[in-house]
Amino acid sequence: MKNLKIGIIGAGPSGLAMLRAFEAEEKKGNPIPEIKCYEKQDNWGGMWNYTWRTGVGKYGEPIHGSMYKYLWSNGPKECLEFADYTFSDHFEQTISSYPPREVLFDYIQGRIRQSNARKYIQFNTVARWVDYIEGKKQFRVVFDNLVENTTFEEYFDYLVVGTGHFSTPNMPYFKGIDNFSGSIMHAHDFRGADQFTGKDILLVGSSYSAEDIGVQCYKHGTNSVTISYRTNPIDCKWPDGIKEVPLVTHFDGDTAYFKDGTSKRFDAVIFCTGYQHKFPFLPDNLRLKTKNCLYPDGIYKGVVYNDNTQLIYLGMQDQYYTFNMFDAQAWFARDYMMGRIAVPEKSLREEDIAKWMEGEANCGTSCDHVDFQTEYIRDLMAPTDYPDFNLDKVAEMFKSWLLDKEENILTYRDKIYTSVMDNTKAEKHHTPWMKELDDSLERYLEEIPADEKELSKVNYY
Ligand code: FAD
Ligand code: NAP
Ligand code: MG
Repeated sequence: MKNLKIGIIGAGPSGLAMLRAFEAEEKKGNPIPEIKCYEKQDNWGGMWNYTWRTGVGKYGEPIHGSMYKYLWSNGPKECLEFADYTFSDHFEQTISSYPPREVLFDYIQGRIRQSNARKYIQFNTVARWVDYIEGKKQFRVVFDNLVENTTFEEYFDYLVVGTGHFSTPNMPYFKGIDNFSGSIMHAHDFRGADQFTGKDILLVGSSYSAEDIGVQCYKHGTNSVTISYRTNPIDCKWPDGIKEVPLVTHFDGDTAYFKDGTSKRFDAVIFCTGYQHKFPFLPDNLRLKTKNCLYPDGIYKGVVYNDNTQLIYLGMQDQYYTFNMFDAQAWFARDYMMGRIAVPEKSLREEDIAKWMEGEANCGTSCDHVDFQTEYIRDLMAPTDYPDFNLDKVAEMFKSWLLDKEENILTYRDKIYTSVMDNTKAEKHHTPWMKELDDSLERYLEEIPADEKELSKVNYY
């Protein structure tokens, strides 16, 4: 066991979950394999490690981060809470259900700081290329140390890929956009709504990025937000100033034309058209090829690569559940790599994958999707010792969150939920989300007197 060597690429929530899983084992006094983790950024946290940069970073690498100023959790924190480290453990004060980015980043760091995990991580180091060496039954991974500008290689028995999949934009073409006179960007490069104050903006796409960037821009005073959908509208009760229209057909100058025959002039277009799963460091035979879905083909239990079972993927699914799902995956992967969980032969794995994929295909509604991912996590957790938690209650919270958004997209973040981990009921935030323009940790944790809280209550409709 001691001689087993495991490489982890990425120190975002998924990579950190993997480190935490091994640490939990070590704390029990059990021997663990030799572990090394490589992160191309200069800090951990993945998406949650905010950067103002767009395009390329200091060392010329594509920027990973897609988060922006004023980004708040878009789901209740009670749905993503770690089962082995609660929000109460971390903050020692009751907080609301929808914290801003910096607060969640602090929470992620709090858990990992309890351990010596940092010593396993080499920062500013990017995985460049991976080969599977048949003779050695190991992966050879080529890395670049970005600071020293040096190349080196390492060999691993198992390789864990936790590099995320919301970084490489999917950028469709529309006729005439070449000559659009306003600004054009993808959600990946959006860093805050400020620059769109007073502007008429067009968002293409109708999922979480379109929904939140639309609402952010409304909150920060855009003149109008138009959301153009391809398949389904987001379909909630939009306030005056945000509307949905069918897909763009083409552009002419600064005017966009839509499928329903309408047209409008815009100052800016933001493509909220999703991301590509992109692994520039993996050869074709090791590369996961999938669109954004709840059960990608080719990975057994959503974790073990079916064509080479020494390769592990974490966090490659579309995500209702996030942090605790990555934990469930990491605990499963740990036990598998340590030889405690056996996987069946390839054809049986294929059958299992097909069964789950059929399950996803049979889902009709968002609630079905929540139930599907809930069952996926239940299945993963069963053979491991990740602390059990009430998944049915979490699923209920997700469904209630869906209704909250439908009811009022501007106020859903003011709702509160109760932790299934330690029963802590969240506290109403001192300021309604629509009124809160400061997303800093300090401001969030400020205790504001009750009478001022009353004053800050507002109605939006
Ligand atoms: P990531 O967080 O993407 O981390 C991957 C890491 O791998 C990065 O640190 C990256 O630098 C590193 N890496 C990539 N390539 C290499 C390489 N070749 N070599 C070395 N290192 C590499 N989830 C929520 O729960 N709540 C939210 O409110 C929420 N908001 C979101 C908002 C946006 C705009 C986006 C894009 C996502 C949001 N998410 C949210 C989902 C988010 O994907 C997860 O919370 C989580 O960050 C995924 O963790 P990960 O470790 O799998 O990937
Ligand atoms: P996504 O959920 O994958 O959605 C992609 C969207 O792009 C879909 O609406 C899709 O429409 C559309 N699309 C794709 N190709 C298109 C084309 N050629 N023309 C028109 N539309 C096209 O991606 P996302 O919305 O960027 O979300 C990614 C992640 O970021 C999610 O996990 C989300 O939770 C997170 N996020 C969180 C926040 C927050 O507030 N905390 C904010 C933003 C994002 P179809 O339905 O037609 O395929
Ligand atoms: Mg169990």
